Amino acid sequence: MRARPRLAVWKFASCDGCQLSLLDCEDELLSLAGAGEIANFAEASSAAVDGLYDLSLVEGSITTAHDAERIREVRRQSRHLVTIGACATSGGIQALRNFVDVGEFVAAVYASPQYISTLATSTPIAAHVPVDFELRGCPVNKQQLLEVISAFLAGRRPAIAAYSVCIECKRRGTPCVMVQGTPCLGPVTHAGCGAICPAYRRGCYGCYGPMETPNMQALTREWQRLGATPRDIRRVLSTFNAASTAFRRECERRDDTETGAGS
Ligand code: SF4
Ligand code: SF4
Repeated sequence: MRARPRLAVWKFASCDGCQLSLLDCEDELLSLAGAGEIANFAEASSAAVDGLYDLSLVEGSITTAHDAERIREVRRQSRHLVTIGACATSGGIQALRNFVDVGEFVAAVYASPQYISTLATSTPIAAHVPVDFELRGCPVNKQQLLEVISAFLAGRRPAIAAYSVCIECKRRGTPCVMVQGTPCLGPVTHAGCGAICPAYRRGCYGCYGPMETPNMQALTREWQRLGATPRDIRRVLSTFNAASTAFRRECERRDDTETGAGS
């Protein structure tokens, strides 16, 4: 790595919210600019320095043939590549197209759909190129983001906890909303948000996607005990991380339950 490592930030199909988490770092961003060279970050500056880059942060999913080409070029120019956010790590909310006819969506949204050129699916970056680390969240947590950047610039693995939102909930002393009758995705959701929703007496929405080895069946049994229908469960799992393997499999299992295919 050169004396001042080069950092680049790239956008694909996304809302820019994860890049805004980086801009929101403000004071820390100045320190970061001192420790390394922010060589490419279109959201912050139109000035750009050509690669190679020591660390590329990638926001967004792959939804066009052009983007599928572009991510391969970003990978070629990057020593390390880290994906940030639900779009980049699981395809994002735009991956809802993966389970329907994308042509119907295009026709419903655009006045002149004949000008739209899009892939039938929205896929995570790791489906296209090797990824060195995936940081989850919608949007990502800025402290976790700073930890990941610092770790890669220092040449160590990021210290990002792999447990569920329930642990964060207990640590902040929040009474469990699920034992009070409110369905919550916290037991299967990756930590990182600080358990914000339960702190406001709402169930977790699963913004950070599935934790490692989530027990989906135990969770959905509890949801059903609280009155949720298979349709409710499918809907709540079909949001920011709809295409993540664990959430998708559970949705398909619900479909099988309803049609009798799984019995
Ligand atoms: S993960 Fe969420 S906040 Fe980040 S770019 Fe995608 S939609 Fe926006
Ligand atoms: S409120 Fe949700 S996240 Fe918190 S402990 Fe209960 S189930 Fe887990």
